[in-house]
Amino acid sequence: MKSIAEQRIQIYNSLSGTKEEFVPLHGNMVGMYVCGPTVYNNVHLGNCRTFISFDIIFRYLKHLGFKVRYVRNITDAGHLENDADEGEDRIAKKARIEEIEPMEVVQKYTVDFHKTLAKFNTLPPSIEPTATGHIVEQIELVKQILDAGFAYEVEGSVYFDVLKFNESSTYGKLSGRKLEDMIHNTRETSGQSEKHNPQDFALWKKAQPEHIMRWPSPWGDGFPGWHLECTAMSTKYLGKHFDIHGGGMDLKFPHHECEIAQGEAVSKCSPANYWVHANMLTLNGKKMAKSTGNNILPDEIFSGKNEIMERPFSPAVTRFFMLQAHYRSVLDFSNDAMLASEKGFSKLMQGLSLLDSLDTAKETTGFDFVEWSQKCFNAMNDDFNTPILIANLFDAVKFVQNVNDGRESITREDLNDLQKTLHNFVYDVLGLTEEQQGGDHYLEDALQLLIELRNDARKRKDFHTSDKIRDELSKAGIVLQDGPQKTTFTLK
Ligand SMILES: [Zn+2]
Repeated sequence: MKSIAEQRIQIYNSLSGTKEEFVPLHGNMVGMYVCGPTVYNNVHLGNCRTFISFDIIFRYLKHLGFKVRYVRNITDAGHLENDADEGEDRIAKKARIEEIEPMEVVQKYTVDFHKTLAKFNTLPPSIEPTATGHIVEQIELVKQILDAGFAYEVEGSVYFDVLKFNESSTYGKLSGRKLEDMIHNTRETSGQSEKHNPQDFALWKKAQPEHIMRWPSPWGDGFPGWHLECTAMSTKYLGKHFDIHGGGMDLKFPHHECEIAQGEAVSKCSPANYWVHANMLTLNGKKMAKSTGNNILPDEIFSGKNEIMERPFSPAVTRFFMLQAHYRSVLDFSNDAMLASEKGFSKLMQGLSLLDSLDTAKETTGFDFVEWSQKCFNAMNDDFNTPILIANLFDAVKFVQNVNDGRESITREDLNDLQKTLHNFVYDVLGLTEEQQGGDHYLEDALQLLIELRNDARKRKDFHTSDKIRDELSKAGIVLQDGPQKTTFTLK
């Protein structure tokens, strides 16, 4: 098996459309920027999937010994309702509807975001900067883009000149769109907007009198454009050129495309070497949307208070469910898929709990520990393929069950190695926790008691009672298995 330092990762780079070997710019140090949430409502499950996907990347890089600076921003200003630089600021709109201060909206939903991600056991980023905390840097960046000749001012607003940029670079290279097609497909006729061209985007917007989130600038009172904040903050904390830039698939265009244009306009190089995008989550085969009611919030899953799931599922089971798909695949959330994940998760955890009580022997049969460990690394090295890793973990669990049932054997040394590697991958890399559905250690304790009562009944030859316990549990979907050492249970 290769040592940890010898593991080589391949990352799918959205910019090139291929998997590339990951080589950090600065030796052992990795800079990673992930676009964070706009904090104007409760974080939805699709966003959680994105942040869990990057949590896995963060955890695995750390596991391999990289020193990672993970920057994930909070968008607390500048994100308008639509991508054409029109409409209300999302946070200001919510503040108006709820009749509270914009910063109360920001506080309320930032707390919700942190609490929800903590339930999913995601690690906090190294730095979590806010847009409103970096207005000075954003104004400075607008000045630099103006000085470089890639922006123009109109009536107190500053716009990025996409056509000018496209003369010396390629606008659309990340999303694979061609500027000429974009122009051709635009319905907007000239004269309707103060922009020179509809493809231009706002770096700084003049605040209308009713706009409450406003800051003074060389161009008058206004607020920064959404794309600008990420360039300002990634540059400040990671430099003009860093390793990984990530976000949800929906951010590829225009958000990330605009970030590349802004970065290249001032530094002549693409901000990041690897652009990584997590795919979306659907619900019962359809896009999740509040407007259609095809929507579920994380807390509604954990509490069971929803119309879609037949019962509550824990954050750990929900996380496990997400990891059973590759981050670049669309994943469909449904009651049946969650029931299957709960079963799988419980099987994995039962396998881990057996490790402490296994008897060891003089030889290990039926399992090549070295080969298996490398397969686990290979799965993660191949663009963080968690479903393949999980399949390998189940191979180990099956072997552990065979040892427990007396069909295979393991040496003390192999058992120690197996335990260590399983713990590393399950707890450190996948970030799974032992808790089960709704604090289910109560259920587990109660089951252990029933197993003891049944075994006592069998010793007394009271087969009426022992069979009744087994049969009734089976009817409830819990199957008891009598091994040579002890009785275990699995969920049907
Ligand atoms: Zn961003």
